[in-house]
Amino acid sequence: MTRRRLVAANWKMNGSLAANAAWVARWRSLALPACEVALCAPFVYLENLGKALEGCGISLGAENVSEYEAGAYTGEVSAAMLSDIGCRWVIVGHSERRILFGETDAVVAAKTRAALAAGLSPIICVGETLEQRESSQTLRVVETQLAAVISVIGAAALARCALAYEPVWAIGTGRSATPEIAQHVHSALREAVARFDPAVARELRILYGGSVKPGNAAALFAQPDIDGGLIGGAALQAEDFHAVCAA
Ligand code: PEP
Repeated sequence: MTRRRLVAANWKMNGSLAANAAWVARWRSLALPACEVALCAPFVYLENLGKALEGCGISLGAENVSEYEAGAYTGEVSAAMLSDIGCRWVIVGHSERRILFGETDAVVAAKTRAALAAGLSPIICVGETLEQRESSQTLRVVETQLAAVISVIGAAALARCALAYEPVWAIGTGRSATPEIAQHVHSALREAVARFDPAVARELRILYGGSVKPGNAAALFAQPDIDGGLIGGAALQAEDFHAVCAA
């Protein structure tokens, strides 16, 4: 097994030129962590951040991408544009986009396909709501979300993606899944991928996201099928994000 740990920041709709510059300056004062690190930020700041982060050991990512290639899609940002300005990663299927912006499994799959076609690495998010967990639907929900993507891109293409398990009830709530709960879902997701392609399943990095902080990261990341994290709130402070990466 050669899965290198990956920790990705998701800044969501936060930041400003001044705040971002201060974040980068603080990050630069800290030692490079051993894991792979990605920073996903709002579109408007990406190009500037890409330059500011040179030599920082952080690769750049977007938080969203159009499912369309080019043309008359006012307000959309294509995968090729993200690639053009130096992005390596893009988050697709985040629950905030599914719930607040009505992104269906089909849209998430189309976005994943568009990202891959432009050479980006998608971070595909899946996760259940509290109601779904309480009615014992967790594995059915996350496996359905995953299958929708696989049906469009094929299991082999997952080799160019990362998967993120993000229980909706744990995002931004301060209530993280326990390491055992997260491991249970991660291992089920890996088994689900293995049913399509065992070699891809062994190499696939499955990140946990949902209220990861410096204080709980090490216990989560110690689980055998948790290969890193997708970090929201704790990524807004460079020191906290760095402590999660160090964990
Ligand atoms: C997220 O939105 O991807 C996330 C994990 O947020 P938080 O860490 O704030 O729960």
